[in-house]
Formats: sequence, structure tokens, C-alpha cells
Amino acid sequence: MNTSEFREFGKSAVDYIADYLDNIRDKKVISSKKPGFLQNKLTKSTPINGDPWQDVMRDVDQLIVPGLSHWQSPNFHAFFPTSNSYPGIVGELMCAGLGAVAKDWISNPACVELEVKMMDWLAKLLDLPKEFLNSSEGPGGGVIQNAASESTLVAVLSGMARSVKNEQILNPHRSEAEIKSKLVTYTSLHSNCSVEKAGLLASAPMRLLATDKHNRLRGHTLEEAIRKDREQGFIPCCVVATLGTTGTCSFDNLEEIGLICRRENIFLHVDAAYAGAAFVCPEYRHYMKGVDYVDTFSFNPHKWMLVNSDCSAMWFRDTSEFSEAYRVQKSMPETEIQPHKEVYGIDIENWQIPNIRRFRALKLWFVLRTYGVQGLRKHIRDQCSLAEYFTELLKVDDRFEVLNSVMGLVCFRVMGDDSVTRKLLEKISERRNLFLTPYTHEDRMLIRFVICSPFTQKEDIKYAWNEIVSTLNLILDVERI
Ligand code: PLP
Repeated sequence: MNTSEFREFGKSAVDYIADYLDNIRDKKVISSKKPGFLQNKLTKSTPINGDPWQDVMRDVDQLIVPGLSHWQSPNFHAFFPTSNSYPGIVGELMCAGLGAVAKDWISNPACVELEVKMMDWLAKLLDLPKEFLNSSEGPGGGVIQNAASESTLVAVLSGMARSVKNEQILNPHRSEAEIKSKLVTYTSLHSNCSVEKAGLLASAPMRLLATDKHNRLRGHTLEEAIRKDREQGFIPCCVVATLGTTGTCSFDNLEEIGLICRRENIFLHVDAAYAGAAFVCPEYRHYMKGVDYVDTFSFNPHKWMLVNSDCSAMWFRDTSEFSEAYRVQKSMPETEIQPHKEVYGIDIENWQIPNIRRFRALKLWFVLRTYGVQGLRKHIRDQCSLAEYFTELLKVDDRFEVLNSVMGLVCFRVMGDDSVTRKLLEKISERRNLFLTPYTHEDRMLIRFVICSPFTQKEDIKYAWNEIVSTLNLILDVERI
């Protein structure tokens, strides 16, 4: 492909995206396709001579898009947002176009420096402790990881490294392997499944602790679990607290948990994958009370901050806990220009698992610059107002029960046993006009309704409400007959 074909191909793709997003409301939000639908539609193997790009674009339109569930649709209210925005899309395109990746500063100075700066912008935007800033005097700093799951794994590994180090100081005769076999970690029953997975991957069993009736992990529960484990010879090494759980957007009591972690010298990570974006608004920062005890903190700009996936922000109070424990000798020969650390003292390549990092800071920069603080706050506040509006609609119909409504998430159910709520969700999913997901709270089924798309307006909430009510009426009519 030559440059002029690239220009045409690229422009047609941008036009396609613009039309797709302009008309997204008209599409059924859930794909109707059955498993395997694509397999016989595509050639068995790679074309021998290569196809014209026009054929590829045609197949995107005819084969791929009809098999998509439309996560950017205003009628998508499932999971959590994976928000998009025009500046974010262009940032991603530029990232691919410039083909820039980075390892250390010398491998790509602007990639590293922009990321370092963006992480400071973000930390200030959320009012995180200043020790997390890359520009702080101490050992703190922030990087962009691929996903919250990866941030959690890095945090758990950091906690393990700290405990091994501390234990070897106290008991120099104990081997690293022996200490590691005793390490245990903690989180709540309602944390994201990626947290339990991080424990599995790191071979540090993750205890899933009970919560209070609002799905919050409390200090006394953690304290008791730690005491029991110590009695049995285990070494508690890391706690993962969630600010904004996936099921009900609940907030663990960070202050209580933090005090215990500080006292017991246990590493504390915060997973604020979704809710973290709301902390750009001062009125939501009370949920972060206790953040001064935290060792690492992560949230996903790719969830609710208009930066397309992937972009997970992670900060360390002390980056050396991870980088020192998992640093390996450079596999590449040192060059004469290599000792850049004296020039630019940040080694973010050692704060992550992959070797090379994508230039994700570019799309983050595009979004932060074009929206600005006020634009981002407006985005969050508008979305929260839509959730409040939906809650009001639910509350005036006494057939529904609202279990909670926090930030952009509303959890509701139909009064009575679970059967009607279950049928309602099944029927709504069959009709494919709305995408909603279930959760179980205190043995009762509930439906999660999340404001996800940046395109969602009040009219879309009315549409969703009418769809829910008319589906419920249908179900109740059938039951009456
Ligand atoms: N943590 C929470 C609270 C989440 O809600 C999610 C996903 O929804 C995750 C972690 C996992 O995020 P990621 O896909 O970036 O790993």
C-alpha cells in the first residue's frame, strides 16, 4: 500500500467511524448473532495475494459490525463504561500512526516524558497524595498499565516483595521460598474477579472477606482475618481495597483498613477502576478518605474518563518496592548513551510487567487537553444526573425497589421474589434494545443499570424506562392470563 492509498483508506475509516457513532442509536445494542457466525464467512486462511482495502472495509460493514454489541450505544447500560471520545480515538490513531513505543527514556524520550507528565496531571486532577507524583522528591510515581487487573497484580507482587524482605530481616535463616509459601492476601467478597486472579497468579492466596450489609469491607473483619492467619503461621502481606465495586459501586472503608495495614505493615492497594474518574469532582472525594495510608492506587481512564481502552493509571508511594524486587539484568547491551538515569531519573520500564510500553499517554493527553478540568467534571456530573433521573423514575413506580444508586450505577429489582426480576432481564436481553447485567446482593437478584455511553441523554433514559416498563407489563399480563 502506498501513501496515497493509505490516505484514502484512513479517511474512509474515519468517515466510517463518524457515521457509525452518529447512527449508533438506531442499532440494536445487543448482537443477534449465534456463536460461530463468523467462522464460515471468512476465508479459511490468509489471502495469498492480499485483498484491496475497499474489500476489507466492505467486510467490516457487512460481517463485523453486525456481529458487534455496541458498547458506545446510549442504550448500553451493562458492566461499566469503556468510554470513548473523539479526541481519544484520534489519540489512538496517532499512537498507531507514529508507531512509537518505549522502554526506557533513551528508547523514546517523548513517550516516557509525556507519560510521566500525564500521570502527574491525573494525580493532581484527582487530588491524590502528593507523594504519588513523579515530580515529588521521594520514591513515588505513576505509570500507565494495560488494565486494572495488571495494576492489581503489580501491587500484590509489590506487597509480597515487601513481606519477604521484612521477614528475612526478622528471621535471616528463613528461605525466600519458605516465606513465600506462607504469604496471604485479602480483599472483599465483592471485589472484582481480577483481584482474586491476581492472588492466584502471584501464588498468594486471596482471602475473600465478608462485608457489611452495604457490601463494604470493614476494619474489624480484616483485623480478625489477619489475627487468625498469624495464629496459624501465615504471613499477611497485601490488602486490596475497592473504591466502587463492580456489582453495586460500594466503597470499602479505606480509613479503617488503612489504619490496620499501617499498624501491621501490610501493603495496601486501592482498586478504583470505575469510580476513580469521579474524583475529578471534589464532591466525590470523601469516598477516598484514608487514601494517605495507601501504597498503590489504580483507576481506569479507559472506563469513565473518555479515554478508549486500554489505559489504566497506577501510582506507587514507593516505586522501588516493585522495581528493586523484579529488576532483571538488561538483556540488551548497554550503549554509550545508556546511562540516562542521571539525566532523567525515572525508570518506569521497571514499574510494569511488559518490556515495551505503548504510547498510551498520547490519547490521555488529547483527552485531558481538549476537555480540560471543567469538561471532565461536566462529563461525570452529567452522567451522575442521568442516573439520578433514572432512579426518580423507578421510585414513582411501586412495583420496583431501588437497592442503591451511586454515581452512574443504579441497582434495582422488581418487588417480591426473584422470578419476575429474572424474567424481566431475560426478556429485555431477548428484545436487544437495552443491555443490562445482573448482580446478586444478600441472596436477591438485582439489575444493574449503568450510564455508560458519553452519548446518553435524558431522552435515552426515558427510552430505557419505557422499554423496562413495557417489558414488565408484558410479563405481568402473560402471568395474569
Ligand atoms: N476492578 C473493578 C472494580 C472493575 O469494575 C473492573 C472491571 O470492570 C476491573 C477491576 C477490571 O478492569 P480491567 O478490565 O481494566 O482489568
